[in-house]
Amino acid sequence: MDVSDRGDVVIAFHLCKGCELCVASCPAKVLARGATLNRQGYYAVTYAGSGCRGCGVCFYVCPEPGAITVRVKKADA
Ligand code: SF4
Ligand code: SF4
Repeated sequence: MDVSDRGDVVIAFHLCKGCELCVASCPAKVLARGATLNRQGYYAVTYAGSGCRGCGVCFYVCPEPGAITVRVKKADA
C-alpha cells in the first residue's frame, strides 16, 4: 500500500469550527475549507477523498472534540 493512501479521515461536518488548524498542519495537503456553512455558521473543512497518510496530525491539532476521525488502514499481509 502506498503511504499516500494509508489513512482515511472523516470530518464531522456540524462539529467543525472552521479554524483551519488541520488544513495548515496536514503534510499531505488533502484538507481544505469547504464552501458550505454548517449549522454553527462555519465553513467546515472537507477531505479531498484520497491521499491521506494516516499520520493523525489533524486529529491532534483539532480543538473540537469529535470533529476529526482518522482511520489507519492495515497493510495487506
Ligand atoms: S491524518 Fe495526516 S495526512 Fe491524513 S488528513 Fe490528517 S494530517 Fe492529513
Ligand atoms: S482543526 Fe478541527 S475545528 Fe478546526 S477546521 Fe479542522 S476540523 Fe474544523
